[in-house]
Amino acid sequence: MTGRADTEPVIVRVDRDRCIGSGMCALTAPDSLALGADGLAAPLAEYADGGAELTAELTEAVDYCPVEALTLHSARGGYRIDPAD
Ligand code: SF4
Repeated sequence: MTGRADTEPVIVRVDRDRCIGSGMCALTAPDSLALGADGLAAPLAEYADGGAELTAELTEAVDYCPVEALTLHSARGGYRIDPAD
């Protein structure tokens, strides 16, 4: 992850067409992501406040997702942060 401040608010998005419900993201970032009743991941909030610890968890979750279903975006600019374009 590059080109951003650790305090920037971020949005995590789940591509539910890709998600296979492995649960890795819910284990890695339990304050931000959870499996829904349909067995697929969903964000717990519209955006994360940009705290460094939370952002680090989300970055790990993006990296660990086995099917690349997660992306992080700037809550201010909307651009994709991770994975980088
Ligand atoms: S890690 Fe990826 S595949 Fe697994 S539940 Fe989360 S978004 Fe879905």
